[in-house]
This record gives sequence, C-alpha cells and structure tokens, in this order.
Amino acid sequence: MIITEEAKLRLMCEEVKTVKEGEEIGAQLLTELSKSVNGIGLAANQIGINKRVCVVNVKEPLILINPRIVEHSEEQFVFPEGCLSFPGKHVKAGRYTSVIIEADNHEGKLSFSADSEDMNDAFECACVQHEIDHLDGITMFERSVTPQPVRVPEKIGRNEKVMITDGKETKELKWKKAQPLVESGDWEMAPA
Ligand SMILES: [Zn+2]
Repeated sequence: MIITEEAKLRLMCEEVKTVKEGEEIGAQLLTELSKSVNGIGLAANQIGINKRVCVVNVKEPLILINPRIVEHSEEQFVFPEGCLSFPGKHVKAGRYTSVIIEADNHEGKLSFSADSEDMNDAFECACVQHEIDHLDGITMFERSVTPQPVRVPEKIGRNEKVMITDGKETKELKWKKAQPLVESGDWEMAPA
C-alpha cells in the first residue's frame, strides 16, 4: 500500500542498522514498485517504513541503503516529475545536473548525471534525488520551479464558498476547507 498522507511523508526517516535490514526493505520496495505501471522509484516511508532505504528502477533495479549525496553540481536542470504518493500531480522540479552518492550497500561512490544523450540518465539522476528527498521528508512540491502564485483574498468568511483550481480540476469549497489547500501551494483561487 502506498502512503498518500502528506503528514506521514513529512517525517524524517531513520538510518537502518544493518545492510541486511536495508536489503529486506529494498526487496519489499521493488515488489511494490513492480505493481505500479509507470513508477521508477520508491522510498521506504512511502510504504509506511520510516527507514532510510529507497529504490530506483530506470535502467536496472537499484537499492540504496542509507544513501547520502556527497557531491553535487552547482548547475541544475528542470525535470517533469510525478510521485506515486500524489497520483495525477506533476511538477517541474529543479534537480542537480549531477550527483555523487554513497550508500551502505555499495562499495565506493555512485555517479548520476543528466548531462547525457541518453534520456534514461536524466530520469535516473532526477529519480535518485527525488527518492533521497523522500527520506528527509521532502516531496517534489518543495523542488517545484514554478510555484503557483497564492492569491488569497483579504477578507473571507470561513463558511463562504470559493472556487479553487489545481490547474486541472476546479472545485467549490467552503473557505475553511479550501484555505489549507491554497496555502499548500498546490491549489489556487480560480479566476472568478
Ligand atoms: Zn515520490
């Protein structure tokens, strides 16, 4: 089961104590990921395990146990991303063009770069950063390079109905229900 509650996804994950424990979680993640049609990565907290393990499956299945970014480029690229925890949502995320990663289950360093002719390299590079972010309680929305302007009216009653939109869907809600959505930045007041 994939966790979709944002509050749970905001929690910081703890390091796993052993590679064996990490590998077991990694295997569960790959199984869960294989059930999704277009998922290319998954972090343990997305299946309710708050441990620092994630998987990426772009070119080959890759388990990362206690991963950390040890070096990254100054330069960033913009990549269109989705997330299995936020079905139907997409952002243009700013990601480092290249990163070097260490993980407890890999000897030496792993290098990822979007600076390549092969689109899969860009997918893998963005995905690895997206998944490591999950382990720190960070979602793709914080990496969005095009945050939607929040236009909140000055005075509005809690029970007053307003129209809000996320760019695809528009709905009418009482302001007390709409306000948290608008403040999250994912929704904005629909043009009247
Ligand atoms: Zn995600």
